[in-house]
Parts: sequence; C-alpha cells; structure tokens
Amino acid sequence: MNKKPGSAALVNAGSGTRAVWGGEQVRHPYNATQTPIVVSAAYGYDDIDVWYDVALGKAPGFIYSRMGNPTVETLEAKIRELELAESAVAFSSGMAAISSVLYTFLAHGDRVVSTKDSYGGTNKIFEEFLPRTGVSVTLCETFDHEEIEREIAKGCQLVYLETPTNPTLKVLDIQRLVAAAKRVGAVVVADNTFATPLNQNPLALGVDVVIHSATKFLSGHGDVLGGLVCGSEVLMAKVRHYREINGAALDPFSAYMIIRGMKTLVLRMRQQQRSARALAEYLCTEPLVESVNYPGLPGHPNHAVACAQMSGFGAIVSFVVSGGMDTVKVLLPRLRFAHCAGNLGAVETIYGPARTTSHVENTLEERLALGISEGLVRISVGIEDTDDLLDDLKQAFAFVRSSGNSAVLENTQLSINETCAGIAG
Ligand SMILES: *Cc1c(COP(=O)(O)O)cnc(C)c1O
Repeated sequence: MNKKPGSAALVNAGSGTRAVWGGEQVRHPYNATQTPIVVSAAYGYDDIDVWYDVALGKAPGFIYSRMGNPTVETLEAKIRELELAESAVAFSSGMAAISSVLYTFLAHGDRVVSTKDSYGGTNKIFEEFLPRTGVSVTLCETFDHEEIEREIAKGCQLVYLETPTNPTLKVLDIQRLVAAAKRVGAVVVADNTFATPLNQNPLALGVDVVIHSATKFLSGHGDVLGGLVCGSEVLMAKVRHYREINGAALDPFSAYMIIRGMKTLVLRMRQQQRSARALAEYLCTEPLVESVNYPGLPGHPNHAVACAQMSGFGAIVSFVVSGGMDTVKVLLPRLRFAHCAGNLGAVETIYGPARTTSHVENTLEERLALGISEGLVRISVGIEDTDDLLDDLKQAFAFVRSSGNSAVLENTQLSINETCAGIAG
C-alpha cells in the first residue's frame, strides 16, 4: 500500500489524530478510504527469488497470515502511534498476548515478580501454568512497594505490572518499580488495559513491554476479542517469532473491528471518564456502600502516584456494598441502563461482581486471599449521558432500601471509607 501523497508524519499530532490516522495514511487499492480486510491465508509469488527474500525478511511482503497480514499490520501500526512504540504485535485475545509474552521471555529456572492483584486469567498463568514449566512466581501485596522492591532485588528475570488493577483499581508506581527491575536486569511488562494509551504510556516510564486487551476500551464496542503487545523492535521480534509458532494470530476481520473502534477512543474515553468520576463521587455518599475504588478520588491510597503517571483516571469504578452478595443480587437486576456481564470498556455501561467477571476463574478461598470481597462490584462506565447513569444507580439503591432486606440494612455502614475523604457530596 502506498503512502498517501502529502501525508505528514504524526510526530506532533495529538492522540485523537493519531487514533484516526495512525497506520492509515496510505492509498488503498481502488482508492478505498478504509483499510481493506485481507482474508488471504497465503500470498502468491511468480518470482521464486523474490518469494525467498520475503520469506527471509530481506524484502517487504507477506507469506502466510499467521506470520503477518496487511489488515493486522495496520492495527499494529495504529497502536504503535498511540503507545509511542517502535514495534507492535497483535494477538487473538488479551490472554493470548499475555501468555505469549510470558512464554517468550521466560524459561525453566527463571523467576517472575508480580502482585496479587492482576487480571484473573493472568493470575491463573502465574499460579497454575508457569510453575509447571519450572518458572517460579512471587506475588506481592499490591500496595506494598517495599515488599515488591525487596522481592525484585532477590533476583528475577521478569517483573509483571498491571496498573490500575482489575477490579480493585490499585495503582503501582511504575517508575519506582522499573528502577528496581533495572538494577537486577529484569524485563518489565505492564498490562495497560485499564488506563488505555490515552491516560498512561508505560514505555515512556521505562517499561519494556506494554500489553492491551484490545477487547476492552481500544475496540470499545464489546464485539471482538484481541490483544496487542508493544515495545522495541528487538523485543517485539522475539514476541512475533513466538506468535508465528504458537499460532495465536489475530484474524483480519477482528483486526478491522479494532481499527474501527480505536478511531473513536478519545471521544469515548472523554465521556466515560467524566461519568466515572460522577458515579464514584455519588457512591461515596451512598450509605449502602462500604468503600469506593477510583484512582481519581483524592482519598485513593495511590492518588498522588496516579496524578503523576496518568493523564486521566479511566472509566472503571468499583465499590463494595454492605450485605455482600445478598445486596448485589437485588441491586444489579434493577439497573436499566447497564448490562450485567463479564466485559468492560464498551460503549454500554456494564456492571459485574468480581465473582462472575474478573475472578470467575478463582475459587472463593482464592478470591478472599486476593482481598476480593463478595460484595465487590465493578462498573465499566459507558458513553450514556452522565445524569442518566447517576439516576439509574440512585434508583437501584433506593429499591434495595425499600426492599427491606434486613441483613443489608443492619450491615449498613454510616461512616464512609476514608477513600472518599475530600470528596464533596
Ligand atoms: C480482559 C482483560 C484481559 C484479558 O483479555 P482478553 O481479551 O479477554 O483475553 C487482560 N488484562 C486485563 C486488565 C483485562 O481487563
């Protein structure tokens, strides 16, 4: 595909412009303005020498879509623009990206240091799969930076960070932990799904490899699975090689869906973050709520770090209701403008308890050990009007109160968690 005549580099362009034009300043066949979905499994050559050069990577081109596909490469170019990365590799899901990165960089005898709070599937790789291959994993208390630094200093090959965490919205000090990792020569990997590239660019903070579940905010419509990995060309060549062999390639239809979704990322996030803040502030005043997790709240334990390394606080809020599951079961079905589902980052608002969403893979004992209480509910705030979302949540809580569930009402905390300190009613 030819570069569009007169197309300027995006170096000085803002993120909204990058999201629209990244990877797409090209002239497509037939002068199509949209990226074609190239469905070909293989690519044909009449000149055997050229074919051989392409296969060896000495000439540009495609051989077989597990190795590379034009639609998928456009998506890779777009995330490169947003994460300010030299190179990117797309996968069939966020978990395919995460597991492939871990298996690319780890071998028998290696050690990983990470935190207890991470996506449930990631936690399963750490607890179940990596130990089987002779890789040891140490999961630290997420809030305890001293413990994480101590464990890193003992020696490790990979430090895995997820910030903010799912679903507890804890924030890790990326630069501080990168410094500890660099002292022992470890590769630092960060899951940037919750923050999105608009709010946080971990590569600029010293991280080596950034991962996104493109299923979430990047695609934004809850209708496609995908994963993206960004970093230096040297590191991404290794990740790409692993993808060629394990076969977790993204299909071109999904790549197109993610490309299309990413163009509106900035507009969506602007609205979603505005509503997320409003909902978090309201939840702080709701007597049936024991605690609220949102990095934008001044009382959030890592608020200062969040302000320093993020340019926005994201569109996920979580809270703990008094009365646990009994309250959750009455509250959630009452919501009119929300799906109750195990997804996030879509244009529709989505509510879900940790038990059936982020930590569905874990047992009750495992969840409690991870500090995930049964009354923890995650909201992925959508693009609906802020006032409608506020009214909806308020009427659902009013219903819980009127339903007279005595267990719930007796447990009601009248004093609100200190997370909310400093928030006006
Ligand atoms: C959803 C999610 C994943 C997994 O992504 P899939 O696309 O569902 O495989 C990983 N990390 C985080 C933070 C997520 O929210």
